[in-house]
Amino acid sequence: MAHLLENSIIAGPAVDPMLPKPYRIQRLRHETHDTFTVELAPENSDKQFSFLPGQFNMIYVFGVGEVPISISSNPQNSQTFQHTTRIVGVVTRAMVHLKKGDVLGVRGPYGTHWPIEEAEGRDVIILSGGIGLAPLRPALYHLMAQRKKYHKIVLLYGARTCEDILYRRELERWRSKFDLEIQVSVDRGTRGWRGEVGVVTTLIGRSPFDPSNAIALACGPEVMMRFAVMEFQRRGLASENIYLSMERNMKCAIGFCGHCQYGSAFICKDGPVFRFDRIESIFYKAEI
Ligand SMILES: Cc1cc2nc3c(=O)[nH]c(=O)nc-3n(C[C@H](O)[C@H](O)[C@H](O)COP(=O)(O)OP(=O)(O)OC[C@H]3O[C@@H](n4cnc5c(N)ncnc54)[C@H](O)[C@@H]3O)c2cc1C
Repeated sequence: MAHLLENSIIAGPAVDPMLPKPYRIQRLRHETHDTFTVELAPENSDKQFSFLPGQFNMIYVFGVGEVPISISSNPQNSQTFQHTTRIVGVVTRAMVHLKKGDVLGVRGPYGTHWPIEEAEGRDVIILSGGIGLAPLRPALYHLMAQRKKYHKIVLLYGARTCEDILYRRELERWRSKFDLEIQVSVDRGTRGWRGEVGVVTTLIGRSPFDPSNAIALACGPEVMMRFAVMEFQRRGLASENIYLSMERNMKCAIGFCGHCQYGSAFICKDGPVFRFDRIESIFYKAEI
C-alpha cells in the first residue's frame, strides 16, 4: 500500500486519456462540395501541439459525438494544426456548420506514422485516393522540407471528378516549385479536364521509380489499396516497402475498447499506418 501511494505521489494526478482538451477554430475553409478543413489552436496558447505525419486526433463536437480524423497540416507548425474532413454522417455534418471561434474537443495525437526516416535515400511514391490525400499531406510537407534527403518523389492522386480534387492550388504550387512529380487522374472526365481519366492505380505501372530502392505510401478506399498493392508488387516492390493507412470505426482510440480490431491488431494503436507484410495475411479477407 505504502509502495502504491509512493508511486502515485511520484506520478502525480492521473490525466484521463478520454478527456478531450478544448481547441478553438481559427479558420474553416471549404475545399470541395463535401470536404472542408478546420484549423485549430489550443485554448491555452502556451501549449504547443506536435505530431508525426500520418497520426490522427479524436475530434469531439460537443453534444454530438467524437470521430477519428487524421492531421492534415505541416508538422513543423506547432501553434496550430488542421484536419481535412469529408462530410459523411452525424458528427462530420455537425462539424461543417461550426465557425471561427467555436470550440472543439481534441484527444491525441494517436497512432503510428508514415516511415519518413526509412524513406531517406530512396524514391518515395505516394498514392492517394479522394480524402486519402489528407493523411499524406503532412508527409509531403516533410519530404519537401527535407527534399535533399530523398531521391525521386512521385505523387499519384485520384479523385472522382476534377471538382473533387483536394488542395488544388497547393498541388499546382508544389508542382511548379519543388522537384516533385505529380500525376492526377479523375474517374470521370468533364469538359475542360485535359489530364488523365481512369482509376489512379493504373498510373503506378508507368510512374518513374526504381522498385529496388523505393518505398510506397498509400491511403484511400480499401478497394483502391487492394489494386495498389497488386500494381506495386507487379512493379517489383517488396511487401516490406509498402505502407498503407487503414480505417475502421473507432471509439476509445487508445487500445481498450476493441472497436477498431483488425485481426490481432488494433488500428488505433498498431496503426493506422501499417507495413504491408505485417497485415498481408488478413488484408484480402472479407469482413475483417
Ligand atoms: C485513423 C482514422 C483516420 C481518419 N481520418 C480521416 C480524415 O482525415 N478525414 C476524413 O474525412 N475522415 C477520416 N476518417 C474517417 C472518419 O473518422 C469518419 O468518416 C467519421 O468517423 C464519420 O463520422 P460521422 O459521425 O460523420 O458519420 P457516421 O454517422 O458515424 O457514419 C456515416 C457512415 O460512415 C461509416 N463510417 C463511420 N466511420 C467510419 C470509418 N472510420 N471507416 C469506415 N466507415 C465509417 C458508418 O458506419 C456509416 O455508414 C478517419 C478514420 C480513421 C479510423
